[in-house]
Amino acid sequence: MLTSSSPEKTSPTAELNKPTITIAKGDGIGPEIMDATLNILEAAGATLDYEEIHIGEAVYRQGMKSGISPESWDTLRRNKVFLKAPITTPQGGGYKSLNVTIRKSLGLFANVRPCRALTPFVDSHFPEMDLVVVRENEEDLYAGIEHQQTGEVVQCLKLITRPGTEKVVRYAFEYARANGRKKVTCMTKDNIMKHTDGLFHEVFEEVANEYPDIESEHLIIDIGAALLADDPHRFDVVVTLNLYGDIISDITAQVAGSVGIGGSSNIGRGFAMFEAIHGSAPDIAGKGIANPSGLLNAACMMLVHIGQAEVAETIQNAWLCTLEDGIHTGDIASEIYTKKRVGTREFAQAVIDRLGRKPKTLDPVHFRKDIGPIELPEYHPRSREKTLVGVDAFIDWNGKDFSREPDRIGAILEEAAAPDFRLKMITNRGVKVYPEGLPETFCTDHWRCRFVAAEGRPAPVTNQQIIGLLQRLDEHQMDVIKTENLYEVEGKRAYSLGQGE
Ligand code: NAD
Repeated sequence: MLTSSSPEKTSPTAELNKPTITIAKGDGIGPEIMDATLNILEAAGATLDYEEIHIGEAVYRQGMKSGISPESWDTLRRNKVFLKAPITTPQGGGYKSLNVTIRKSLGLFANVRPCRALTPFVDSHFPEMDLVVVRENEEDLYAGIEHQQTGEVVQCLKLITRPGTEKVVRYAFEYARANGRKKVTCMTKDNIMKHTDGLFHEVFEEVANEYPDIESEHLIIDIGAALLADDPHRFDVVVTLNLYGDIISDITAQVAGSVGIGGSSNIGRGFAMFEAIHGSAPDIAGKGIANPSGLLNAACMMLVHIGQAEVAETIQNAWLCTLEDGIHTGDIASEIYTKKRVGTREFAQAVIDRLGRKPKTLDPVHFRKDIGPIELPEYHPRSREKTLVGVDAFIDWNGKDFSREPDRIGAILEEAAAPDFRLKMITNRGVKVYPEGLPETFCTDHWRCRFVAAEGRPAPVTNQQIIGLLQRLDEHQMDVIKTENLYEVEGKRAYSLGQGE
């Protein structure tokens, strides 16, 4: 039974078997598809209490740049499960993406997107496709740490952490196990980014060893993305970094034909958010024609998460029957397979009418009911021995003749380096230009200058020596825009070499 309650009435110790979730009806088609979804959940016997919060356009317009009020945060944090309809983010004006804010604030580390083809009832090039993308959700280039460093160069910091990677990779394996999936594929670009993507791959291999019952493989993201678009049948669960995951989850949803009907979950420790893949579709809002399937599929993921897998299975099978019977909303209607073109409410009613039935052509959905929600072990940080061996100083130098600048800068830096350091190399956009660079190499005003301990100086290098170096660089009129310390970690070089070094 589904009941709604106001925040004041709800006890924080709600009955365990009747959890209280938070819902938000959002903007555009949000209220229509949420009402349809809740009606189906109710009819299927989901046992829930829910509290509604208001987020999105109206809240943004009231001047809250994040699109959510402080009271709504309290409700979300108390209930820990959030079923969210799409919202409209106003353009310009410094409004922040509510999704990104919620993901980061509540530590939602994994974005999970199942993509299953439903041919012939929903058009797809790949009838056999049935895979799940698990995307790391908090790190990578999405940390949003960007700086303009020189007149011509802007930087975005790519941060990959061991705990962040371990959480998402472990979740992917646990998800595979819980959902009867056989293989987890990791995709990175560690042939180029040996340290950041290299860490993701390394942790993947470590975690994979703990799951001998699940096959594991690693692919470079470019060939991986190409295979997803060309031969998606070969994949089962795919786990990858934030940016690659953002891109490949849209590719997979598109080729599966499920952009309009896909649901997704955002999973954290003790909090989870469920939503449709699509947006608020303002062009069809209020017309009663939106397809509620995306939010309904997200709601089914939520039911599995809160231990009501049986209800989720009943709903999913009734939904597949509805598609098979040719009851379609306009967005998925086709000349051959659509018998009745319906609006949002009629579609929901058609699903309700089919509760208890199993599809005949499409494979029925079956969820394991013998296992509880996926819980990850605590992460135990391990200290690693780190030795400072040098420093990269980045310099803004805007010379007139870039083929000659490396030697000019080099001569000044050689002098400034002594007595504690020697200049090992200068690179421009990662390519070595000093000593012995090529005059053809294109250079801009951003120079990475690597200093290591001078001959005969005892290791490790000290911070005091680096401060002394920076002092001398300043005295030589060098505009140091940032530094990066060079470390060996547990005896291994822990920084990249320059191309051509
Ligand atoms: P959109 O997904 O809202 O719409 C793209 C197209 O798909 C439109 O033609 C729309 O009518 C159609 N469509 C989408 N969902 C449908 C459904 N359930 N049934 C039938 N047709 C459907 O993408 P957009 O137009 O780029 O974005 C509109 C707004 O949604 C923007 O303000 C954007 O910021 C927001 N948005 C929100 C979320 C979210 O809250 N998670 C995600 C994406 C976009």
